[in-house]
Order: sequence, then structure tokens, then C-alpha cells
Amino acid sequence: MRQDTVLIEEMTWMEVRGTIAAGKRRVIVMLGAMEQHGPHLPIGTDTYLGYAVGARLARRLGDALLAPVVSLGYSVGHLPMAGTVSIEEPTLEAVIADVCRSLAKHGFREIILLCSHGGNYHALANALPRLRSEHRGVRISAIIDFEEWVEATRQFAQREGLDMTRIGVHAGQGETSLMLAHRPDLVQMDKAVEGFTGDASTRWRSKVPPPMDTMSPTGILGDARGSTAGLGEKMLAERVERLAKMIEGGLLAR
Ligand SMILES: [Zn+2]
Repeated sequence: MRQDTVLIEEMTWMEVRGTIAAGKRRVIVMLGAMEQHGPHLPIGTDTYLGYAVGARLARRLGDALLAPVVSLGYSVGHLPMAGTVSIEEPTLEAVIADVCRSLAKHGFREIILLCSHGGNYHALANALPRLRSEHRGVRISAIIDFEEWVEATRQFAQREGLDMTRIGVHAGQGETSLMLAHRPDLVQMDKAVEGFTGDASTRWRSKVPPPMDTMSPTGILGDARGSTAGLGEKMLAERVERLAKMIEGGLLAR
């Protein structure tokens, strides 16, 4: 029997209609990706983590559902590695607009747009002004700056006595631990290695990120060794709590 769920894709249309009518008037849209994540994590990592964060956030807010995670993102820098599927930024902007247009028809009062992949922030930022003018009756909340995630993770690392360069921004101790918490069946820890641990900020500060293989031949930014499910659980809990407070405080709606 199906368990209680906050995922729209697991519900029937009548359940979605009834749930909105009963007061769940927020909907979360996570923007994921299909891109290489080193020798030890699956191509779908950012999309799986979109489900992990989105579903927990929906439950934590109590009045929200999770829309189907947008599983393709802007991943051009990862294309040298096999299996990566990237869509261009204008395509992603159009997808975001169409998803919001669909959801806005059903009676949601707030659409919350979040990235579980760093490459999607520019497209989301570009799409936002038009979304807000198109849907005046719906609050559109979003985080449009990757630095927010970097700063939150830096603070977490400091509190926990962890090394930010090892947590990394891609397939390092951070994402690997999150996957060990959410989908351990898809993690191959025997293949987890150290990747590039220098300054990777050119990746999200430049319009077209440098090809990943020129920076890290394994595709890891950070160090995947030493990742644990316990650390992943802690990171997930922190992330969800931080996001929930930002949403409840109206910080994302400006
Ligand atoms: Zn990732």
C-alpha cells in the first residue's frame, strides 16, 4: 500500500486537488541535473538530492507539496564526461516558466524554486522577474545565488570542525555524505577518491564554467573520502531547517 506522501508525482490528481483545498498551498520546485559526479556517485545525484531536500522541506513546512524535480539542468561544463545530459540556459528558463504556469493553475499560493545543482542559478535568476510579473496572485520564492549555499556550508563546516575544501562543491565529502544518507544503494565508496581541493569559485562566477576535466580529471571538486551517512543526515537536517526558516521569514519572496 502506498504510504503518506508529499510528492505530487506519487499522488492522484484528485488527491492533489483535495490536498490544496485542505490548505497545503505551497509547492516546492527543485531544479536538479543529470551530470557526472565522479567515479563513485551516480549521474542523477543532483536530482536525487532534489528529492531528498524537497520532500523533507515539504514535510517540515507542513503546508507544502513537492513538484516533480526538474531532472535536467545546465551542466555544460560537465559534458566532457560521459553520461552528462545538459540543456541550455534559455531552455531551462522556459522549463521553469512552464512548470510554474502549470502549478499556478491549481490553486497554490506560493511556488518555492530551489536549485540542487549549482549550474541552474543563472537561469533561475533570469527567469524570476518574468515569473513574478506573470503570476501576481502567487508568491514566487527563490534562492538565486549559489553563494548562499557556499556560505551556509562554510558555516556548517566551521561548526563541525570540518574542512570546507574536502566537503567540496561537487561530489566531495558533502554530496557523497548526503547520498550515503539518502540513497546508499547508489554510492560506491570503494571508488571514492580525493579530487581538486583548490579554489573552484571560477566555476560559478563565470558565465560559461571551464570544462570539468581541465580542473579535475576524476570529476570531483573536494575529497570524497571519509564521507558518512551520519554527516549526510546532519547536513540534510541543517539545510532543511535553514531553508524552512528563510521561507517562513519571507526572505525568499523579495
Ligand atoms: Zn551535485
